[in-house]
Amino acid sequence: ITSVAVLTSGGDSPGMNAAIRGVVRTALSYGITVFGIHRGFTGLLQNDMELLSSASVSNIVQRGGTFLKSARCPEFHDPACRKQAAKILHTRNIEALLVIGGDGSLTGAHLLEEETGIPVIGLPGTIDNDIFGTEDTIGFDTAMNTALDAIDRIRDTADSHERHFLVEVMGRNSGFLATHVGIAAGAEMILVPEYSVNIAEIALQLATSRKAGTGSSGIIVVAEGNEPDLTSKIAHELQQHGLAPHISILGHIQRGGRPSGHDRVLASCLGAVAIEYLLAGYSDIMVGVSNGEVVDIPLDDLIRYRKGLDPELLKIALQLHK
Ligand code: ADP
Repeated sequence: ITSVAVLTSGGDSPGMNAAIRGVVRTALSYGITVFGIHRGFTGLLQNDMELLSSASVSNIVQRGGTFLKSARCPEFHDPACRKQAAKILHTRNIEALLVIGGDGSLTGAHLLEEETGIPVIGLPGTIDNDIFGTEDTIGFDTAMNTALDAIDRIRDTADSHERHFLVEVMGRNSGFLATHVGIAAGAEMILVPEYSVNIAEIALQLATSRKAGTGSSGIIVVAEGNEPDLTSKIAHELQQHGLAPHISILGHIQRGGRPSGHDRVLASCLGAVAIEYLLAGYSDIMVGVSNGEVVDIPLDDLIRYRKGLDPELLKIALQLHK
């Protein structure tokens, strides 16, 4: 292999830049040419890319977001567009594609390889940590710490004013971020989409402990992927029980910011290993982490299977706030 391309796609996550740097510097050390494609699959379809040098990735390891830019590209769902993408890569003599993104982006990468034979390697870039086969994703640790920073502040106000706060964290359909954030923030309650809840029961529980003087304030972490408007429904139910909760939706602040040391190391290593795996002949895989070791996961598997929330972890989370 003498020439590869790298792109970032889907929702950005802190550490994507470090991953690009890992890919570029490792590839260059093997004498491989690297193209950086702008704005994910959108840029690929527009043949919008630049040749990357070692200097192109200087001074980015500490920056959030992705300097290559990211985008959603609905056209990539169309096999004809994926064929066009392969043609563009062939024309430029690019022999493999590295895709940094979430499960949607990695699905697109898998289909590209399956239909056109272009070797692809995926890297898990998402704050949600919802990708099957890997226990960690680039950006998860940073997002957790960003949410914690916000919740620690909110707790001061909750405590001073003796109020409950419903804090909504990101995570789409998965409760990983909410569970980890909830444990680390010492939340009084954690609501995740994987387990349904009885809102009335929760409200009663909180109201009872408030009356008993054991819970005049509290933090309830709600994963965004829960049923629509769950957060406001809970707020309404709490009001019925005489509580006056505030709602705080953390939103996009969780996606940006300086990547944590953990995410920088993870991203750098996965970027480097992605190139090593490619040179070893692997394709149609994602590089991920299992039991603390870097592993390869067939892209087919991560599309087919859904990563489950560790029930033990949730059990611990729920025990700790009692
Ligand atoms: P993420 O990668 O963060 O999960 P999305 O789900 O929005 O984000 O996917 C990002 C992009 O990946 C989409 O805009 C599209 O270009 C591509 N993609 C997602 N799902 C598919 C699919 N099933 N087939 C082909 N391409 C897809």
